[in-house]
This record gives sequence, structure tokens and C-alpha cells, in this order.
Amino acid sequence: LQDNIAKATAYMAHFRDTGVLNHIDGQSVPAASGQTFETITPTDLSVLATVTRGGAEDIDRAVAAAKAAFPEWSRTPGAERRKILIKVAEAIEARAEEIAFTECMDTGQALRFMSKAAIRGAANFRYFADQAPDAENGEVTRTPTQMNTTSRRPIGPVGVITPWNTPFMLSTWKIAPALASGCTVVHKPAEFSPMTAKLLVEIAESAGLPKGVLNVVNGFGEEVGKRLTEHPDIKAIAFVGESRTGSMIMAQGAATLKRVHFELGGKNPVIVFDDADLDRAVDAATFMIYSLNGERCTSSSRLLVQDTIYDEVCARVADVAKRIKVGHPLDPDTVVGPLIHPEHESKVLSYFDKAEEEGATIAAGGEKVGDDGCYVAPTLFTKANNDMAISQEEIFGPVLTAIPFKDEDDALRIANDVDYGLAAYLWTNDLNRAMRMTDELQAGMMWVNSENIRHLPTPFGGVKASGIGRDGGDWSFDFYMETVNVSFPR
Ligand code: NAD
Repeated sequence: LQDNIAKATAYMAHFRDTGVLNHIDGQSVPAASGQTFETITPTDLSVLATVTRGGAEDIDRAVAAAKAAFPEWSRTPGAERRKILIKVAEAIEARAEEIAFTECMDTGQALRFMSKAAIRGAANFRYFADQAPDAENGEVTRTPTQMNTTSRRPIGPVGVITPWNTPFMLSTWKIAPALASGCTVVHKPAEFSPMTAKLLVEIAESAGLPKGVLNVVNGFGEEVGKRLTEHPDIKAIAFVGESRTGSMIMAQGAATLKRVHFELGGKNPVIVFDDADLDRAVDAATFMIYSLNGERCTSSSRLLVQDTIYDEVCARVADVAKRIKVGHPLDPDTVVGPLIHPEHESKVLSYFDKAEEEGATIAAGGEKVGDDGCYVAPTLFTKANNDMAISQEEIFGPVLTAIPFKDEDDALRIANDVDYGLAAYLWTNDLNRAMRMTDELQAGMMWVNSENIRHLPTPFGGVKASGIGRDGGDWSFDFYMETVNVSFPR
């Protein structure tokens, strides 16, 4: 651990010296106002660096740079864009340790997950790069009198607004397809975790991405985020974050008819029937809530268990929760690190009181760990019903609410009775039941007898308050491109 902390300190030294600056038109620049704020590490709340606090003027400059870079980048042949983006992927791989260590210190996420997330960032670039050469190709259709050619072209400069959980990976997931499509980008990273966005733009430019194609403006959502969503030269906003922020962005973008793509919150059920492989189910359910600090949109935060096995499954989950290692994110053995920020920690801790007030039982955790930093014990609430706040609201921490159900209808009713609809996990060995259930579950993504295993060509996104639109495969290109049709007489 001490070696890793020393390495992380060395990796972040330049941020301590210069602060986390904006990156506009190939240059590292402070905010026009000269204002800054501080980013802290949730490991001990010490200051990691000062961060540029951008304002409207900085957004305007970044959008102007993205607009100026757009004609050339959008006309760069897809095969050429592919080459550059593959080089970005290679450069990310070469600096994966630096990215992972920086991310751990800035977000509190454990190294065992962040080292994979950094590599996944490279995979995102590689995957979307490979599709760049054919992204504009559509089809030709003939009628007796007309010939139609349908094709796609990049929509223009776009805004990407990202949250603080796994910020590097999520940013690549949004930015790589935008660049592969031929769009230029202004990125607004989350104020709690600004460091790796700056690394990404520097890595991309050192790998050959032309200046102005990717720009980063730091600052607060209601200041720079708002301005970005209102800017007339920004043609689309890809946003990942809370549902209520999505509503605000939709309203802010309305006047300029902004195209929006939203990946929002979740309160995802993992449904366990009594015919399931319980070892696998318990393993997957605990992994999906206690990995990544539970700060994960697809976490399985509601455990729905058939009443015949409810006590047994809850006892097993509580046992796992109590044995999970909570500790410094750079300790290779740590599973749960500190939550992102004291503000978020207070929100998560408030649910411990709420659970007791509502009449649930705290079967594991339910307390802060240690006096320093934002460490919270992996927690299980039992004897809950679906009307409780702990069952309805996204807590976004290592906190699981277990609710019993009687039969299929009951499980479906409970699973669907929330505002969200991002993911659902189903454990049963009855194939017919799995088909009936997945037909009726209100979720954009479902996994049967599996934890969340992502395959990049498949669609990612939610229904209800969990989002609008899909990422992955060709869906990302559809968002960042306009489909046009040209018709000729024949
Ligand atoms: P958040 O909505 O508070 O902030 C996200 C980003 O939006 C930040 O960069 C913030 O500065 C910006 N923002 C805030 N107000 C804004 C405004 N008025 N205009 C423009 N931008 C604004 O979310 P968070 O707390 O950073 O992240 C956690 C949330 O993200 C959770 O709800 C989680 O479920 C969600 N999330 C969803 C997915 C998904 O794929 N569905 C993935 C990861 C996280």
C-alpha cells in the first residue's frame, strides 16, 4: 500500500504544481475569471489539487474551438480517424497504471476495479475506432421511378457531461464514439473527479488527435454545464448522471432544440427464485452491489428473494457483506474504498436512520468505518417492503435492500414498482419462467443467471427515469450522426 501511495503521489505531482486546468484548442488554460476550486481525496479528505472553475466565457471559447475543428475532423476519412483513435487506445494502455492510480485517489474506487476500468477505456476507443470507416455508409434503395441513397454525417460539435463514478471509463464510452463519428467534443467532467479527464485529452493529443477536436472545461454543473447545454453551436448533449439533472438539461436545451442522450439513475432488482443456483446467485448479487463502492448505475440495489428462501439468502448475503475488505483504494486487497465525497457519504449514511425509522432491519453494516475519510461498511437491510425510501430511492453506495416475494406475479409487481428501469438480474433455472419474466420486466438491460457482463456491440441504456437512448454498437453512431436521404429520378 505504501508503495502504491508513493507512486500515486508521483503520478499526480504535476496536478499539484499546475492545478487541473481546462484544455481548449490544444492548450492547458486557466479559467478566464481565474477562479478555482479544490478537489479532495475521499481517503482522508486532503486536497489533491486546485481545479479551474470555468464559466460561460470558457465554454464559449471551447465551443468555438470545437466548431473551428469540426469541418476538418468531420471530413477526415473514417479510416484516418480510425488510425488516430487506435493510437489513443494504445496510449491509454501505455499509461493505464497512471490513470488507475489517479482515479483511485480522486474517486475512492478500489484499484482492483480501476485498473480494469482504465483498460476498458482503451477497449472503448478500439471498438468505436474500428467502426469509424463505415459509420457514414447507409443503403441505396430503388423504386420504379426513384433511387434513394441514405447515409449519415456527423451532427456537429457535441457536449459530453459525465458523473464522478468511474469517470475515466465513462468518458471514453461517450467520447470515443463521438470522435469516431467525426464530431468534435466539449467535455464537462464532474466537479468531484476532474483529474483523469485532463489525462485523457492530453493522451489523445499526444497520440495525434488534432487540437480543438476534444476540449475540456472544468467547473460546476449549474455554471459551465448549464452554459454548454444552452450553447447554440452545440448540436447534441450526451449526459450521464442523475435523473433530475437529466430533466434540467432537457429543459435547458429546449430553446436550441438540443438532441439529448441520457444515461441516468437506477434501482435495479436482482430477483432470486427458489429453484436458482444459490451459490452463484449470492455471489453475483453481492458482487453487483459491493463492487465499485456500490457507486454504479447498474448496481443490484434491490434484492428480491422468494419467501421460501428469504431468510437463508439474507443470512448468506449478510455473511459476505461482513467479510468484505473496506480500505484504502490503492490497497490491492480492498474491495470497498471510501465514497466519493463527504456530501455523498452523508446522503448514504442518512439511509441507515431512514431504514430503522421505516421498520427495516440492518442485518449487516449500517455504520461508518473509521474516523478519517468517507468509509462506509457494506450494508444489508432486511425485512423491507417496496414502499420504503430504501427500496425506492437510488442510494448509490454499498447498500442493499432485501425484499421478500411470493411468486412470479408478486416479483414482477415489486420489480417494476419504481421510477427507474435501467437493469434487472434474474436467477431461476426455469427457462419458461425466465422468458415470461424478461417479457414483463421494465428494464433496458436484463441478465439471466449472470452478473453484469457487458459486450460492447450490445445496446446499453434504460427505460422510465433511467434514460433516453442507447449506447454501444451502432446505437452510439446513430446518436452522434444525422441520417440523410437523397433521392434521384431514374
Ligand atoms: P449529477 O447528475 O449530479 O452530475 C453529473 C454531471 O452533470 C456533473 O458533471 C455535473 O456537474 C453536471 N450537472 C449538474 N447539474 C447540471 C446542469 N444543470 N446542467 C448541466 N450539467 C449539470 O450526477 P453524479 O452525482 O455526478 O453521478 C451519479 C449519478 O449518475 C447516479 O444517479 C448514477 O446512477 C448516474 N449514472 C448513470 C449511469 C448510466 O449509465 N445510466 C452511469 C453512471 C452514473
